[in-house]
Parts: sequence; structure tokens; C-alpha cells
Amino acid sequence: MQRRGFVHRRARVRLNIVKVTGVSTPTRPFKENEDWLGSGPDMVVVLDGCGVGDALAADVDRRCVHGLPWYVKTLGTALLRSGADRATPLPDALATAIADTASAHRGRCDLRHPATPASTVVVLRQNREAVEYLVLSDSVLVVDDGGEEPMVLTDDRLNRLNLTPYGEAAPGSAEFVEISRRRADELARARNRPDGFPIAAADPKAAYRALTGHLGRGRVRRALLATDGATRLVELFGKMTWLGLLNLAETRGPEEVIARTRSVEESDPDSSKWRRGKVHDDATVAFCQF
Ligand SMILES: [Zn+2]
Repeated sequence: MQRRGFVHRRARVRLNIVKVTGVSTPTRPFKENEDWLGSGPDMVVVLDGCGVGDALAADVDRRCVHGLPWYVKTLGTALLRSGADRATPLPDALATAIADTASAHRGRCDLRHPATPASTVVVLRQNREAVEYLVLSDSVLVVDDGGEEPMVLTDDRLNRLNLTPYGEAAPGSAEFVEISRRRADELARARNRPDGFPIAAADPKAAYRALTGHLGRGRVRRALLATDGATRLVELFGKMTWLGLLNLAETRGPEEVIARTRSVEESDPDSSKWRRGKVHDDATVAFCQF
């Protein structure tokens, strides 16, 4: 009889929907957020608008009257809508969302311009007994599947590009600004090119170059979706492991991940210890408990 009771409890746990806690915060208060976080009953979406570094933030021309905050908001809500039907595969849902977003500004904006608004995408969707994922560009999905180390899913094609290095250029100097400009051009030109990297912009085909797959529902214990502004403790500063980040988000909440990131950034305000185009970046973390 005891055994039956045990089986019953397990079944009840499996029916629980995933619990999501998340936070998305711009680099500083009152600045518009170029990240986006949204969730539906069975789905979580994290986006990171493809922006430029601090040196160019004021003078870049994206040939779009709407801007990145509008783009990520429009794409994110369209994706929650198109992905709500669980019969629709995630790449199809993303392709529809990209097409819908392009329709919403085609005519007023030059969508063929290489620097038209673009965004990374991470989606997690619970679909009956499977947990489906889609990762496009350099945002990250970390999954605790019970193994010693979590699975880390990201598309590093962007980070493998040979961009002009900052070298010894001092942040804020004219040379640094010039290098930032060159890097922004190189990035824009590599978008959605066969030898570049795929990213959501105006062409729905990018959705089919995303990293996708699914895991058995029973395998997934915890998951974390994050933009690169929220993975700096691991990827840039080397302050913790992916498992450490997952544990921190679980025990202290996603806010603490961002608070600690900000505190390390503030300890290096001129990017001299950790060379980076943005001193702070918009940062988003969604923590999912299964
Ligand atoms: Zn536009």
C-alpha cells in the first residue's frame, strides 16, 4: 500500500506546472530595456535586443523608427502567441513571430538594412511529457537534468567571429570609439550570413538555424534562461560555475544574480580588468523549477 501511495505522489508532482521566477533589468534605472522576459502557462521567453556598445549608443542609425525596446516587446509577445499552440513546433512559432514583427514595421523602416533591430531568443516550453527548447544566438539555457554538471546550451557562432580586437585601446578614447564602430559594422554584416551567425531580425528563415531539442519531462529538475548581461559572473568575470549560478538563482532569486553582477561591474568601472564594450548590460534571468 505504501508503494502505491508513493506512485500517487509522484504522479501529482508531474502534473504541477513549472514555477517561474524572473527579473529583467536595464543597465540603469529609467533607461529603456533592450532585453525582454515573458511567460505563458507552459512557456518562458527571454530575448536580448542586439545593441551596440556604450561608445556608440548615441549615434547609431538602425534605419528603424521604433528601436530595440519596441522590437523585443513586439517579437516576444508575438512568440508567446504563436507558441501557445503546443502542436506548433518552436521553430515555426518563432518564424511566425519574426514575420509578424516584420509586418508591424515594414513600410516605415528599412528592414533590409544590416543593422535593422535584431534579438537573441531562448524559449522553454512544457509540452505534455517533454520540455522543448530553442536557443538562437548567444543567450543561454542552463538545464539541471540531475547530472553532476548542468547542460549549457548556447550558440557560440557569434563569439567565434573574428572581430577587430580592442587591443590596448583605453575605454573612452577616440581609438576605442573607432574600434567599437568597426566591431558594430562587422557584427551587422555577419548577421544571418552563412559564415556569420543566425539571429532573429526581419527574415523568418533564421528561426530554422536555431539550436532546438527536447528533454523528457522527468529529467528536467531546474532550468535557467539568461541573456549575456546576466551570465557575466560565469562567462566574463569567472566568479562562479554554471552550477553555482543555478544554485544562486534558486536560493537567493534572480535579483541576486543581477545584484552580484552589478557589484562586480562597479568594482571595474573603466573596464580595465575585464575588457567589455558595455560597462553594464541589460540583464535578464528566468529561473524555472519543475
Ligand atoms: Zn521599425
